[in-house]
Amino acid sequence: MDRDLTELSAHHALCVHGFRGMGYSEGFVASLAAIVARLRDEPGVRVRVRVGSDAVCRACPSLAVGGCMRYGQSVVRQDARVADVLGVRSGDEMPWDDLRARVVDRVSPGDLGDLCGGCPWLGYGVCAEGIARARAGLPLHGATGA
Ligand code: SF4
Repeated sequence: MDRDLTELSAHHALCVHGFRGMGYSEGFVASLAAIVARLRDEPGVRVRVRVGSDAVCRACPSLAVGGCMRYGQSVVRQDARVADVLGVRSGDEMPWDDLRARVVDRVSPGDLGDLCGGCPWLGYGVCAEGIARARAGLPLHGATGA
């Protein structure tokens, strides 16, 4: 893979806004923290959208040869749904700023209940707060805050 591209599952384009350091394993948290820091701190960073697992998922103990053992096909359907809302397709490459702008324009905090049903982090409210921060023009929070 192109080292200059950050691979991002479509639904992770939402998760990065609310990420506060929670996750499924130390490896998952470290991987997502690194990606959030890169998106936040590297001007002009580019992303490749995935409908399916990305580098964060590959650091998760639930990913197996057959796919995600925790959520199965539901997480792929979630990716497809989020990609549809954002108007992107798997394999699309663009600056993170462009994908971020699509999230800001097309996703409101109240949409997460519908887009993220079943996610254990939804109830904490940090993701809705993160989308609200993005819509207010604030940078990604990250694991330990800006
Ligand atoms: S609720 Fe879950 S899937 Fe939705 S943005 Fe938050 S962490 Fe991601």
